[in-house]
Amino acid sequence: MNKIKFCTNCLYSNLHPLGLTFNEAGVCSGCQVHKEKDYLNWEERKNKLLKKIKSYKTKKSNNYDCIIPVNGAYDSYYTVHLAKNILGLHPLLVSNNNYYNSPLGIKNLANLRIKFDCDILFKNPNPISVKKITKFTLQDLGNVYWHSIAGQTAFPVQTAINYKIPLIIWGAHQGVEQVGMFSHTHEVEMTRRHRKDHDLMGIEAEDLINVANTSLLNENDIFQYIYPSDDHINSIGVIGIYLSNYFRWDPKKQHELMIKKFDYQTCKFNRTFDCYDFVDSYVYMEIHDLLKFYKHGYSKVTDHVCREIRHKRISRSKGIDLVKKYEHKEIKYVDSFCKWLGINEKSLKYVLNRNRNPKFWKEYEPNNWKYKGLSSLIKKNNYLRNKVKNISYICNSKIDLGKKSEFITVGKGYNN
Ligand SMILES: [Zn+2]
Repeated sequence: MNKIKFCTNCLYSNLHPLGLTFNEAGVCSGCQVHKEKDYLNWEERKNKLLKKIKSYKTKKSNNYDCIIPVNGAYDSYYTVHLAKNILGLHPLLVSNNNYYNSPLGIKNLANLRIKFDCDILFKNPNPISVKKITKFTLQDLGNVYWHSIAGQTAFPVQTAINYKIPLIIWGAHQGVEQVGMFSHTHEVEMTRRHRKDHDLMGIEAEDLINVANTSLLNENDIFQYIYPSDDHINSIGVIGIYLSNYFRWDPKKQHELMIKKFDYQTCKFNRTFDCYDFVDSYVYMEIHDLLKFYKHGYSKVTDHVCREIRHKRISRSKGIDLVKKYEHKEIKYVDSFCKWLGINEKSLKYVLNRNRNPKFWKEYEPNNWKYKGLSSLIKKNNYLRNKVKNISYICNSKIDLGKKSEFITVGKGYNN
């Protein structure tokens, strides 16, 4: 195995799936680009964006200015808040149903629509196809989120073309936020290539039917996940911009503002200390996170820790303790997932174990595994003591993700 190298500032290593580089001081590209947040003139950048979007503001009252992809969690509230209240845009919200909905996520989404007084367009892909695709991606790619990512990245572009609304507004660019793939000043925009290579791990919808047995999947199952053609995109002039290139992005602070101003609901998770990010899903911080741990040797809690180290809210050594505390925690809602997908827990366990990367896992006796992944190799460098306070998160929902753990296939919303 190639030598594993860790960043001296955060906990990421050279094995990060999005790719990282290091400077002479051993600081990763993600940390270096993060530092831009402290010296860029964000007021100037906001004004630059206002100028850029000026021509997209429709003077006629018969159309929307932009499209914003949303769900019941993550940076949806803040993105809509910036677009509507700060940039003065009239957005059409779009949401692709991934069928992993928690009651909390449905509630957040309904509240988002009401609090921001926006129209929303839902896409509910045929659930039988969703399950067929998920069975295939779980078995062959070790992934249960492909349909969700493919849908949430294709539907906004399809809507942009159908409704002739060329501007799509996203929140953060994960490549910039996590690994510093681009500088904020590159103002990178949405591309077909990034979606395929990074969001979908190299597998486009069209590729699925080529690799899957045609008796399992056919064109009718995958057509709604196909990204529109360049001709269609160019005919409308569709562009997708990321607000994190124009506003200083700090998810913890942003969520706390959204809790205070718009009653965004949060809850505790078993496998991370962050209570804000994925409250809409019964699967993301559970089966999906376990698969990440098995395949890549680290889990979401490492992403959360790296983010908090960079924002100087926790020290690197406290971060290592947090990772070790959370990454081996049990996953929940396995029975609901199996029931939804129509598989039994034993075969799920078998498939999950098959995805353990031998780089990070050793089966020393049948069904007993020893972890030799990233957090078991990382060393504390105590010379790095940034001044940090105790980190705390607001948890304002009493019901965790929801009272019952059955997936909500179509959420009707709540009356406020
Ligand atoms: Zn770093």
